[in-house]
Amino acid sequence: MSKLRQLFSTRQTPQNQSIPGSSQVANSAGGYAWAVDDWMQLDRFLVLGSESGTYYIRPQKLTRDNAEAVLRCLAADGRRLVARVVEISEHGRAPKNDPALFVLAMAAGLGDEVTRKAALAALPQVARTGTHLFHFMEFVEGFRGWGRALRRGVANWYAGMDAERLAYQAVKYQQRDGWSHRDALRLAHPQAPTDMHNRLFHWMTQGWNEAELAELPPEMPALKTIWAFEQAKRATSEGVIQKLIEVYNLPWEAIPAQWLASADVWRTLLPRLPLTALLRNLARLTANGVLTPLGPETQLVTERLADASQLNRARIHPVAVLAALMTYRQGKGARGSLTWNPVTEIVDALDMAFYRTFQNVTPTGKRLVLALDVSGSMSMGMVAGVPGLTPRVASAAMALVTAATERDVTVVGFSHQMVRLGISPRQRLDDAVQAVSGLPFGATDCALPMVWALENGIAADAFVVYTDSETWYGQIHPVQALQTYRQRTGIPAKLVVVGMVANGFSIADPQDAGMLDVVGFDTAVPALMSDFIGRE
Ligand code: CA
Repeated sequence: MSKLRQLFSTRQTPQNQSIPGSSQVANSAGGYAWAVDDWMQLDRFLVLGSESGTYYIRPQKLTRDNAEAVLRCLAADGRRLVARVVEISEHGRAPKNDPALFVLAMAAGLGDEVTRKAALAALPQVARTGTHLFHFMEFVEGFRGWGRALRRGVANWYAGMDAERLAYQAVKYQQRDGWSHRDALRLAHPQAPTDMHNRLFHWMTQGWNEAELAELPPEMPALKTIWAFEQAKRATSEGVIQKLIEVYNLPWEAIPAQWLASADVWRTLLPRLPLTALLRNLARLTANGVLTPLGPETQLVTERLADASQLNRARIHPVAVLAALMTYRQGKGARGSLTWNPVTEIVDALDMAFYRTFQNVTPTGKRLVLALDVSGSMSMGMVAGVPGLTPRVASAAMALVTAATERDVTVVGFSHQMVRLGISPRQRLDDAVQAVSGLPFGATDCALPMVWALENGIAADAFVVYTDSETWYGQIHPVQALQTYRQRTGIPAKLVVVGMVANGFSIADPQDAGMLDVVGFDTAVPALMSDFIGRE
């Protein structure tokens, strides 16, 4: 190769330089990539969160970068921002609701008047539980004072909620983050829309006196929940607690701790346990002998985990299932105090439930290369703040979702070289996760999947790269490698970049219609990808 061509080419540029004439920016790793736009950054923040930072960026800086992108979205189109928050939150597309509540609080505090109004009007849609409301109240104080509009927004949350649901929320969590319903009601002074609300508000702020409690189960259903909750506090036998659960549907959070050691109490709770609570208590239920191999309770649990519509209604996110699976299979808790023998049927049911929590995907029938960035940076930090869920582990799980629906899939790994992954679509999720967790660390060259496919005669209609886009090692940029691949093979191959951390970078060229940025662990992503890849 002549010296000049080596020194300057628009078709092959080392990753530590920007592609001449492009709008690339420096990433955090000493390489060049594109900056994602503020709306994509918003999606990444909503879905992936920023609380654990990345390999390169500390949590505080990452959160500030994301908040600044939110501010720019607010300035550009506040109502679009609020609508996006509602969409991601209501459909349960993100593993955690906190970023949505945080962005909504920003909009309620820092938006223009129309935006602030829209944000407060959306409060009941985004803050669906008492805990959500308390989080919002904590966040919003960082952006504004308790003016009239905000008080009214909180008042509407209480007055607008169905009394039975409100009572259930109230006995579930009375306080969180230094906020209680009493504090919130005293600030907001909601007008009670019904007598039932009125008596609920009264209980939340002052409790009921003996005379009020003595009125045996009041006729109003919402008040029965409160009455049962008060009875549970005074209960002196297991039998009474079981009765209260059976008749009044008391949630487990409302049962005094001393009774939660009883397996019989849990047997009574089990069929009524919301799925989120079920996922969180699988270990406890196994340790206390309620869930046993081939036991009737085990069958009940596996049936519930297999019911896609139930999973969907409860907004069970795949990350919650994956986290439960990763903990449960270990047979011991993080703090080591609790141990159990994992029941195989439960492990299998969790494995299957994971796939059912994604939106339905139409297979494209295309030839796909799913390429996992397994470089060192992908093994640091946590997706959505879930312990053990590194971007690397998360990307293996995401790849399996697509691999499970498509018939022509090759899964490969890369760092500064191609890495044998040893995972297959037929493998159980936790085994695949285990397989990628133990791989050695390396530098990052995101062009490798395309270079490898060209050198090995692999025909691919699309490359899906799961990465943090902190590429810097290679002698050619990923998009240049893709363009070369397209030219040499004649296949108009597409590129999907699945962003696995909430930084601002992407290896996808925003000018190229054959490239798409999506956010890892958005439950809509496998469907979005198949749409994009299947489109002619
Ligand atoms: Ca890396």
